[in-house]
Amino acid sequence: MVVSGALLSVLASVCWAGGDTPCLAVDEQIKQMVRQVDAGRIASHVHKLVSFGTRNTMSDTESDTRGIGAARRWIRDEFERISRASGRRLAVEMDGYRQEPDGERIVKPVDIVNVVATLPGRQRESAGRVYIVSGHYDSINSDPSDFVHDAPGGNDDATGVAAVLEMARIMAPHEFDATLVFMAVAGEEQGLLGSEHAARQARAKGQDVAAMFTNDIIGGAALNDGTSDRRQVRVFSEGVPMNEIAEQAGLRLRAGGENDSRARQLARYVSRACDAYVPNFDVMMVFRMDRLMRGGDHKPFCLAGYPGIRFTEVYENYDHQHQNVRVEDAVHYGDLPEYVDFDYVANVARVNLSALASLARAPGAPRDVQIVAAKLGQGTHLRWKANVEPDLAGYDILWRETTAPEWQWSQRVGIVTEHWIPLSKDNYFYGVAAVDREGHRSEAVFPAPMKK
Ligand SMILES: [Zn+2]
Repeated sequence: MVVSGALLSVLASVCWAGGDTPCLAVDEQIKQMVRQVDAGRIASHVHKLVSFGTRNTMSDTESDTRGIGAARRWIRDEFERISRASGRRLAVEMDGYRQEPDGERIVKPVDIVNVVATLPGRQRESAGRVYIVSGHYDSINSDPSDFVHDAPGGNDDATGVAAVLEMARIMAPHEFDATLVFMAVAGEEQGLLGSEHAARQARAKGQDVAAMFTNDIIGGAALNDGTSDRRQVRVFSEGVPMNEIAEQAGLRLRAGGENDSRARQLARYVSRACDAYVPNFDVMMVFRMDRLMRGGDHKPFCLAGYPGIRFTEVYENYDHQHQNVRVEDAVHYGDLPEYVDFDYVANVARVNLSALASLARAPGAPRDVQIVAAKLGQGTHLRWKANVEPDLAGYDILWRETTAPEWQWSQRVGIVTEHWIPLSKDNYFYGVAAVDREGHRSEAVFPAPMKK
C-alpha cells in the first residue's frame, strides 16, 4: 500500500482516533447457554465433592465414598451422564501417570489422574484448535501430606470443578467450530502435577491449545470482618511469556509487547465477553501471572508455550483454605461449603462459558501478524497470513493507547491480508483479530516487527 501525501492532512485532523468500540457481537445461542448456568446444580456438585471427606492426592482410592478415587470416579460418571444426555458427544477418559515420591509433597507412589471430557469441534479447519477449561479436584488440609483426615476443599477447588461440570452440561449439546476440553485435574496442591501432565500430553500430541482457563478458588469468599466483592472475578495473565527465548526478548525490548502476550489477549477477550454476556458482573484483569509468588494450573501450560489464564475470587480468606476444620479462639477454620456463594460461582462459570463459546465459534486468531517497521513513514502497515476457515468474513484491526489496559478502537476490514491505517505506529499498540460471517471474533494478535 502506498503512503500518500494526503496522509499528513488526515493526521493533521487528529480527531480520527478510530472506528468502533471493539465490543463482542452477541450470539443468541451463547446468550441462552449463559442463562442455563444453574447455581443450585453447582451447589449440589460442591457438596458432593466435599462429601468424599478428603480428596488429598494420596488419599484412599478403594472406597466408594471416601477419598480421591471415589471423587474422580464420580466426576467421570457425571461427564458420562452429560455425554449420554447429549447423544454421546463427549469423549470421557481418565488420563494419568504414576508419580514417585519427590522428597516434598509426594510421600508415597501415587497415580495422578486427570478426568477429561472432550467435545470435538465440528469445523474441519478448526477442530484441531483446542480450548481447555479446568478445575482441580484434589484438596488439602493444614498438612499437604495428610491424606487421612478431612480436607473438604469446598472453595479450593470444588467450586472450579463444579463450574467445569456445569459448563460441560450446557455446552455438550451445542456445536462449536473448535474443540472444547473440560478437565478436572489432580495433584495441584502437590505441585501442579496433574496440569503439568496435561500440558506435557498436549505438547507430545502436538496439540494447538489456543487457551487454557483454570478456575481455582472461585467461591466468592468473604473475609472474617465481612469484606467481600461478589461483583467481579480476578483474571490473572502473564505479560511476558514464561517461555520467551532470548531472540524474542530482544525484539520485545525494541518493539514493546510486554503487555501483549497471548495470555493477556485472552484476558482482554474474557473481559469483553463478560461485558457482552454477563451484565452486572465484571472481570478484574490482574496483569501478573498469578497472585504474588504463587502458581496455578495455567502455569505449566504457559511454560509449555500455551496461553493460560487463571480465574480466582477477589478476596481470599486464608482461614478457609488449606486448614484443618476446627475452631480456635472463636475463629472458624476450614474450607467448608458454607463459606461458598454459589450465585457467585455461577457468575464466574457464565464468564468462562461466554468466552469459551465465543472463541470456539470464532475463526482462529490470525497467524504471522507483522507490523512494517523498516520504512520510516506515517501511518501503520499491518500484514498477516490468510485464515482458512470457510465462514471467514474478514478481520478487525484493534488499537489502544500504549497506557490503556484494553483495546479501545477497532476497524473491520474484509478478507485481506494487509491493512494500512492512518495512525501512528509509535503512539498506539495494534492487534489483528479474525471474524466470521456471524460476527464471532477471535482474540487479537500483537504484531511482530518486520524489517521490510
Ligand atoms: Zn487450588
